[in-house]
Amino acid sequence: MASLYLHIPFCEKKCLYCDFYSIETVAPMESFLAALHKEIDLYVDQGKGISFETIFLGGGTPSLLEPAQLENILAHLHTSYSITPDAEITVEANPGTVDKEKLRAYRSLGVNRLSVGIQSFDSEELKFLSRIHTAEEAIACISAARSAGINNLSIDLIYSLPGQTDERWIETLHKGLALSPQHISAYSLIVEENTPLSRLVHSGQVSPNPTEIEARLYERTMEILAKNGFEHYEVSNYAVPGFRSRHNYNYWNHENYLGFGPSAHSFWKATGEGKGRRWWNIASISHYVDRLAKGELPLVSQEFVGREELLHERIMLGLRSDGIDLNRCASDFGFRLFPVDNHVVTGLLSEGLARLERDRLILTPTGYLLCDEITRRLLP
Ligand code: SF4
Repeated sequence: MASLYLHIPFCEKKCLYCDFYSIETVAPMESFLAALHKEIDLYVDQGKGISFETIFLGGGTPSLLEPAQLENILAHLHTSYSITPDAEITVEANPGTVDKEKLRAYRSLGVNRLSVGIQSFDSEELKFLSRIHTAEEAIACISAARSAGINNLSIDLIYSLPGQTDERWIETLHKGLALSPQHISAYSLIVEENTPLSRLVHSGQVSPNPTEIEARLYERTMEILAKNGFEHYEVSNYAVPGFRSRHNYNYWNHENYLGFGPSAHSFWKATGEGKGRRWWNIASISHYVDRLAKGELPLVSQEFVGREELLHERIMLGLRSDGIDLNRCASDFGFRLFPVDNHVVTGLLSEGLARLERDRLILTPTGYLLCDEITRRLLP
């Protein structure tokens, strides 16, 4: 199992809180796409003999791609790599950049999952976040996707905005549920460095919510989504049964993935050695284009990940998602991770922070609230 990720680094306007690499113009789109196609070619040998079962176009705003541009990208991937017939093909969409025609064209190209960045249904909050769309446009985007035949829909929402009351957040969550998406990503607002939001916070113009409020909103989110039939399968991700993101699942399970585009990350395991290599691209379109024009890989750095580090990551990623698969760890690393009488594990079970289910150690909702602390307790 393996995945392909493509970073499309353009946005109509940067959002207040966002630290993903993107620029506010599509002027260099053509040179970027030419470079992207070159990069896809450079990894063909690496992907030989591997089945890729997910493709994810993220960004940035991949829904700024015209259908013909997306068609060329997907056709190139299909001729260069072995993509499984039932591959999950996701495009991230920003409401306000798509309409029914475009989505119908995307669907005809094989896109079978749309991840829509809605964030809020409250007009003041959308304005604060500097989103380019209204709540009505977000709702229209979901209905356009459905009528285009895209029935696997995910929405992104953000909670714990400064001064947000429980009622305001719960109203947004219910409006999201009313759209009947198959998947909801609900993130608390994080103040990332070097964003306009962090400057507002540092200058005292905006005060982040205290952690108790954030924790309370998180608990309410878990409760409401569970009541509505959503499985909580990662700290911030919820899905109705059968609709977990296969792409993200591959990331969390140390499956191989190739990332193309400026700032994209890749990970590849050395066969049978329990080691891997991670590398990432330069976060600059002009440097990315220049490097590929010279036939060079646009890497900025790489690291080799040894067995011990992989094991630590497996614990951390497993706790954040749907649990640590103890059988799989035993076969990948050659030993049973936690003996039956491990006192940290028995402590977590008796404190109601985790449960054991078919040899998988899974956090409970209370455990998710303490995920970082529990990870520290469990790391060898
Ligand atoms: S649209 Fe998405 S990628 Fe672009 S700035 Fe906003 S949050 Fe970031």
